[in-house]
Amino acid sequence: MASNGSTNGAAAPAVNGRAYPITDHTFDVVIVGGGGAGLRATVGCSQAGLRTACITKVFPTRSHTVAAQGGVAASLGNMGEDNWRWHMYDTVKGSDWLGDQDAIEYLVRNAPAAVYELEHWGVPFSRTEDGKIYQRPFGGMTTDYGRGPPAQRTCAAADRTGHAMLHTLYGEALRNSTEFFIEYFAIDLIMEDGRCRGVVAIKLDDGTIHRFRSHLTMLATGGYGRAYFSATSAHTCTGDGGGMVLRAGLPLQDMEFVQFHPTGIYGAGCLITEGARGEGGYLTNSEGERFMERYAPSAKDLASRDVVSRSMTVEIREGRGVGKGKDHIFLHLDHLDPKILAERLPGISESAKIFAGVDVTKEPIPVLPTVHYNMGGIPTNYHGEVLTKVGGDPDAVVPGLMALGEAACVSVHGANRLGSNSLIDLVVFGRAAGLRAAEIVTPGEKHAELPTHSAELALSRLDRFRYADGSIPTADLRLDMQKTMQTNCAVFRTGEVLEEGKKLIHEVWGRAKDVRVTDRSLVWNSDLIETLEFDNLIVQAVVTMDSAVNRTESRGAHAREDYPDRNDKEWMKHTLTWVDDLAKSVTIDYRPVHTYTMTNEVQYIEPKARVY
Ligand SMILES: Cc1cc2nc3c(=O)[nH]c(=O)nc-3n(C[C@H](O)[C@H](O)[C@H](O)COP(=O)(O)OP(=O)(O)OC[C@H]3O[C@@H](n4cnc5c(N)ncnc54)[C@H](O)[C@@H]3O)c2cc1C
Repeated sequence: MASNGSTNGAAAPAVNGRAYPITDHTFDVVIVGGGGAGLRATVGCSQAGLRTACITKVFPTRSHTVAAQGGVAASLGNMGEDNWRWHMYDTVKGSDWLGDQDAIEYLVRNAPAAVYELEHWGVPFSRTEDGKIYQRPFGGMTTDYGRGPPAQRTCAAADRTGHAMLHTLYGEALRNSTEFFIEYFAIDLIMEDGRCRGVVAIKLDDGTIHRFRSHLTMLATGGYGRAYFSATSAHTCTGDGGGMVLRAGLPLQDMEFVQFHPTGIYGAGCLITEGARGEGGYLTNSEGERFMERYAPSAKDLASRDVVSRSMTVEIREGRGVGKGKDHIFLHLDHLDPKILAERLPGISESAKIFAGVDVTKEPIPVLPTVHYNMGGIPTNYHGEVLTKVGGDPDAVVPGLMALGEAACVSVHGANRLGSNSLIDLVVFGRAAGLRAAEIVTPGEKHAELPTHSAELALSRLDRFRYADGSIPTADLRLDMQKTMQTNCAVFRTGEVLEEGKKLIHEVWGRAKDVRVTDRSLVWNSDLIETLEFDNLIVQAVVTMDSAVNRTESRGAHAREDYPDRNDKEWMKHTLTWVDDLAKSVTIDYRPVHTYTMTNEVQYIEPKARVY
């Protein structure tokens, strides 16, 4: 694609004697990722008059955001009293006090405006009788600081909210003058003296190499759910941004916190939204008992996700699972009015039919906790700026680099994200990143020359994998990684199982040296791209496991049977992990949790026991 800022074939660096001609592009801002977060940031930067490029490995509307079902949280109060302070309380409690309270305040205060903005851009929200945006109850969302009944806070477009949002955002991005680079795979960041100067990508359909020079690079590359065997996330969720950040010598944060969604379809892993329980669905065991009443007497089936997933796991372990293998749980919607099901949950009714052969109006759906979301990621402040720890400063900004969406760890979700708080995170922090970009970059600002070796890291990796002639196919390494994570870093964890997992996952990492790629071409080489993706996944699997071994307490989604209690004295802190890929070693350090709010219009919420 010829772009305004491109100069063709400016240089043809050689790697191992092979030439890789480069097409150069220059932009004010480059955004990697065309999901909800990337597109919202793209709109903001373009509207600020910045020359903006959006690079994405899949067509924007195929990003995983399209699969989001249940909805987007904002205290509009359309279905009963609500306010942002209650939303803040629920989010802090949901995070098990690992979330940064200044960032959480920023999220919940800006949430209603972000939803109205989506409405004005054309998201076809479901409506109440009097024409307002329909809002449903979701796990952990309450009124009156947890004392009142469940809040109806989650704005929904039937059970296809992400689909509606993503298509609307793409339309809005097209209306502004963004340049899209679609089916370009970003390989590595260009770093110079600690500053990010851009990114190097390969165009998938012809194998050409593209170097993007920019004042600001934003990573909105999504989660890394595919480090696990059974995940609700798309096969494209390989955490490429996290891999790039680790290779740039920067840390990832809170990687031990992996969310299991209670209701993945047994066997297939496809998601049945929490909105199903929001509309009145409930779980039963082999005795037909609504067991959540025992574990969470007040919130019951709408307790937060970690609590429901653990309760289901205990039921199965104690022999009360359903099915031949007594290895899953039933989700009932068959008592609900078929008209409501058709109107509010049409998508999951279809998924249940296709993937479980179940007619939801007559039979329960077989479900199992399934990996769903990564609370950890690239550490940022609430402007989206990437942070690292330098000397005594735990919040040092990395110039030129931002991260948002599931790839980032702001951290608003802390140790456990509440359902519907991710879609709102995408648009609130996507917008924040655009605002920040407008403050720190002047449109058309002059660029310094790139360092001579700017493409070296990306090209040497590309060439190494392209000609990798070891003995283990990428698919085998990936399966070993996924099985290890699924078995050894699951809903419940113990020191012994984690230690074994650490040994096993480091072994996979070591064996990756011996990877074999069979296709040597550069045109639509899926073997090569999957190997680059695996290379991104494995380092994140390793730091997830190592952080889980290291954290000797239970908090949110990290449930240690050998350390069943939360230990605020020692562990109310964020984990930071760095990786040395050559030495195959991990370094762990910490950042303090922000125990202060953004303004004095709300008070810091003191830690207490988390019961639902
Ligand atoms: C099935 C499902 C249902 C969900 N339902 C809800 C819900 O109801 N409510 C809620 O709040 N949350 C929900 N979530 C969570 C939420 O949808 C995600 O966290 C969120 O959509 C992630 O958005 P994102 O923009 O960060 O990334 P994504 O939407 O995953 O997009 C990532 C983008 O990065 C690009 N990319 C990645 N790597 C590269 C690379 N190397 N080079 C170039 N481009 C790259 C991709 O092409 C893509 O455009 C759900 C998640 C799943 C899996």
